[in-house]
Amino acid sequence: MESLTETLTKLPSLAIVVPCYNEEDVIADTTSELLATLTELEASGRIGPDSKIYYVDDGSRDATWPILQKAARENSRIVAVALSCNRGHQNALYAGLSQTSEDMVVSIDADLQDGPENIAAMIDAFIAGNEVVFGVRAERDSDTWFKRMTAEGYYRVMQILGVDLVFNHADFRLMSRRAVDTLLEYPETNLFLRGMVRELGFRSTTISYSRRPRLAGESKYPLRRMLSLAWKGVTAYSIAPLRAITLLGLIAGGISLGLIVWVLVVKLMSHSAVPGWASIMVPVLFIGSVQLLCLGVIGEYLGKIYEEVKRRPRFHLREVVGAASRESSAPQRRVTRSESSSLER
Ligand code: UDP
Ligand code: MG
Repeated sequence: MESLTETLTKLPSLAIVVPCYNEEDVIADTTSELLATLTELEASGRIGPDSKIYYVDDGSRDATWPILQKAARENSRIVAVALSCNRGHQNALYAGLSQTSEDMVVSIDADLQDGPENIAAMIDAFIAGNEVVFGVRAERDSDTWFKRMTAEGYYRVMQILGVDLVFNHADFRLMSRRAVDTLLEYPETNLFLRGMVRELGFRSTTISYSRRPRLAGESKYPLRRMLSLAWKGVTAYSIAPLRAITLLGLIAGGISLGLIVWVLVVKLMSHSAVPGWASIMVPVLFIGSVQLLCLGVIGEYLGKIYEEVKRRPRFHLREVVGAASRESSAPQRRVTRSESSSLER
């Protein structure tokens, strides 16, 4: 397989994207560690000198922004961007990705719990031909028991719901320029990046590492936010909950059919039924299950509409060999319905 870097005449440049929300306690340490990482990577011949760190201030209420501004003014390798207000980690990360133009982009949390020493292995995997390299937490000793249980339970539930996720991968990953550009084409507003990146489908691999404790400060992902991200992951990626209604309707229909038969048998065969009992029970059971079934059918259509309104690109080309009449380099233009009528989703 031809490696990606064979087509690059110079060493690939690297962008490290760091979303920050109220991280005044960690920025100084993070900056010096990331700068040292860039220097090391450059010295080992993995990246070019035009590599950068992109900080995104996600509407912090502490001194994060002045600290980032100062860092960016003092060091030409640092770019600081600020969002107008707090939009959440996923949006901040997306905003950061959209600012980059480097050949490789690594996203990392400001507290460096996912150690930057792993970036070298990610770049090696990129050079070996992978466009996406997912960082996977091998063990989570530094997390609390509760955080570990909820996080791992979450990945399991997502798997059951049919959402394609990399187990124990948060948002520490390397993406090629093409993968980032392709991701930026996804028009949806409900971002669940770890699912979307998986959906891109480019050749990918994982590297595993052990997670460090937070440098300083406290987690910006309290239970409320974790639940909200988890729910977003389910609803942005799966129509399984809607489908569950149809299934429930079918089960309720079956059970109530049995009960209706029983009610009629009791009514007609024995004379122990209270007057009015059968004429109430039969319609209640029947209407209840019919309603559930109808909701399920409506849910099916809603699911289809939901998938349509996301207007996700139907495919991404990996390679074109030979003289294509159109420009074939990424990002891919979105294909219109008539062009792609023969393509299955
Ligand atoms: N973060 C953000 N916006 C938010 C919440 C968090 O940009 O609204 C950033 C935060 O600054 C950090 C990253 O998201 O860089 C992950 O947050 P944290 O380390 O607190 O999460 P945990 O590691 O506890 O899951
Ligand atoms: Mg953290």
